Amino acid sequence: MAEPLDAVVVGGGQAGLAAGYFLRRSGLSFAILDAGEAPGGAWRHAWDSLTLFSPAQWSSLPGWPMPVPPDGGYPPRDAVIAYLTAYEARYALPVRRPVRVAAIGGAGAALRVEAAGGSAWTARAVISATGTWAHPFVPDVPGRDAFAGIQVHSAAYRRPEDFAGLRVLVVGGGNSGAQILAEVSRAAARATWVTERAPVFLPDEVDGRVLFERATARWQAEREGRPPPPVEGGLGDVVAVAPVREARARGALGSLRPFARLEADAAVWADGTRIAADAILWCTGFRPALGHLTPLGLVQPDGRVAVGPAGRALAEPRLWLLGYGDWTGAASATLAGITRAARNAVQQVVQALG
Ligand code: FAD
Repeated sequence: MAEPLDAVVVGGGQAGLAAGYFLRRSGLSFAILDAGEAPGGAWRHAWDSLTLFSPAQWSSLPGWPMPVPPDGGYPPRDAVIAYLTAYEARYALPVRRPVRVAAIGGAGAALRVEAAGGSAWTARAVISATGTWAHPFVPDVPGRDAFAGIQVHSAAYRRPEDFAGLRVLVVGGGNSGAQILAEVSRAAARATWVTERAPVFLPDEVDGRVLFERATARWQAEREGRPPPPVEGGLGDVVAVAPVREARARGALGSLRPFARLEADAAVWADGTRIAADAILWCTGFRPALGHLTPLGLVQPDGRVAVGPAGRALAEPRLWLLGYGDWTGAASATLAGITRAARNAVQQVVQALG
């Protein structure tokens, strides 16, 4: 028997909790189904030294500001996990875990949500907020399987000591690549940074707060039908957090363009350059974790679902997508931006359910 609810939120990270905050005020019956063993979403899997790149005041979910750390600086990973843990308790959000949703399909006027363990729910609205962390992306480089050394994606990277004394290739020019290179280059015998193009570093005074203000300005311009202000850097550009600035001062941020292939013990470039390596750290990003939507046939070759305003799926009016990236709402993959996206989605859900 499937439990009937007005709404189901799939995923209990920051996006799922923000949706829960607004759903709770709406009076609709709902549950948040989360595959995690404990609260915290992707932050539970982040590397030990990861800190937010926005101050706490700019990293709050709706209703309750994130506590400012004692030193007033950027909150570390564990402070974010503690905040998300306290947040769901504070608002008594109906999170059920661990519940991994395996499939969502049509069931008359509702959608049927099936968990891997056999439990099922029907819901007149489903908000998918499963993030990207569960779907790491590694490019299909020739010879990747022949490489005999260690290969780790940033999703599984923990600390630089694990690479002490090794010759490491750090692949990927975004924030993960820059931050991991900054610390691994202190422990490794040699760390080589390999990026698609020369990495773009934001000016030292630009942090997540500034990026959020820019995203807001673009969003407001769109709403008012004005041309968007020129793009001066996005979330993919490297924020000059303290460890990155330190690595820059050490001269450790030089980079090479991609190699052509891998061999058992080295990367080889098209011009014949060969760099021996014991380990590769793939900081090559993530794709939306949307496997549970496969039965609906909505996932496009780029890994996304076509959505309209407030993240509602164009081809499935009972489904909303929340938090995956700007395609589901400006800055919706950030703590600062998720409030607006979640409010918009839940307002639409309430309207749709009448
Ligand atoms: P997640 O946190 O991934 O939560 C999704 C939840 O859904 C998880 O608990 C997962 O277990 C669950 N789930 C997945 N699949 C299923 C399923 N099938 N069924 C049930 N549950 C499922 N963000 C900021 O706001 N500020 C920052 O300063 C910041 N800095 C960052 C720095 C780096 C280097 C990186 C890599 C990321 C940073 N981020 C930052 C981004 C942030 O970590 C993520 O964007 C954010 O966690 C996304 O939240 P989410 O709720 O959408 O997804």
